[in-house]
Amino acid sequence: MDISQFLQVWYSENRRLLPWRETRDAYRIWLSEIILQQTRVAQGLDYYNRFVQNYPTVQALAAASEDDVLKLWQGLGYYSRARNLHKTARAVGDRPFPTAYADLLRLPGIGPYTAAAIASFSADEAVAVVDGNVYRVLSRLFDLDLPIDSTSGQKYFQQLATELLDRRHPALHNQAIMEFGALQCTPTSPLCPTCPLADKCLALQRGTIAQRPVKAGKTKVRDRHLHYYLLKEGDRLWVHQRGAGDIWQGLWEFYLVEEGIEDDAATRLKLPADKAAFTLRHLLSHQRLTCDFHIVHIDRTLTSLPSDYVLLSWEEWQKKAVAKPIFDANRRFSALFSAK
Ligand code: SF4
Repeated sequence: MDISQFLQVWYSENRRLLPWRETRDAYRIWLSEIILQQTRVAQGLDYYNRFVQNYPTVQALAAASEDDVLKLWQGLGYYSRARNLHKTARAVGDRPFPTAYADLLRLPGIGPYTAAAIASFSADEAVAVVDGNVYRVLSRLFDLDLPIDSTSGQKYFQQLATELLDRRHPALHNQAIMEFGALQCTPTSPLCPTCPLADKCLALQRGTIAQRPVKAGKTKVRDRHLHYYLLKEGDRLWVHQRGAGDIWQGLWEFYLVEEGIEDDAATRLKLPADKAAFTLRHLLSHQRLTCDFHIVHIDRTLTSLPSDYVLLSWEEWQKKAVAKPIFDANRRFSALFSAK
């Protein structure tokens, strides 16, 4: 048996039953792929079901407002994925969701990996997928120290994956190798003693499993200190929607002053430099956020806030899509509004 056949036998015995594997609907496969980027399957499953239920077709998703899509996405993080999802749905328009690799690549937000996954899973097109799982499996099987985040490394792994592809069963082959990476050849504790490829695995023979795959550069992480002010006016609060060009585009938040960034409105408002009510820390892929939350009781109508701020009741505020730290802060602040 060749490597692909071993993987396919392993897959038939070990595969998880997941709804996006039981369909050939390119739209649903695409949805699952976008949701599962940077998200665990257990968490993604719930969101996948919600999206399919609310938007059973790509046209239904395109017809939704961006706010509604962000709201449904809330809690998954990496919100640019949700905005791109919506943008792509609109780009598809009235057509059926494409299934050909070349057509998929023309859509916004669909790169080579996602295009290969959709084209092979939905239409059995012979294109090899290379995701994090595939990089790991191949780098160990062949004991490759080429960095997977370098252009030459990526090119090499793509060629190797294409050579190994079972061209008669591309969907099965791709699903098998991805699932094998997710369940058997896992990042920190691969199950080598029960691995059907153990006698072919060069990293196992050479004792280099923990060093595979190799990554060249560590991404720099930036620290940011955010001061959020809950501006409470009677039973309502002042909030606004974030603009473009930074994290959490399109999500809602309290009044924000960021350390190290000049803000005239903060001076005009004469916000008290009091101790924060509480602090939440949040990690993004390239940023470490410290969020201090303050409470300010306003006893007159604010005139000096920027014009995008709106005064909402607590119930209206709960309907807005927010990032994780604001979501967690809301739970702490809710007592301020429910206590009569
Ligand atoms: S022997 Fe271990 S490291 Fe090698 S492919 Fe199997 S699970 Fe992965």
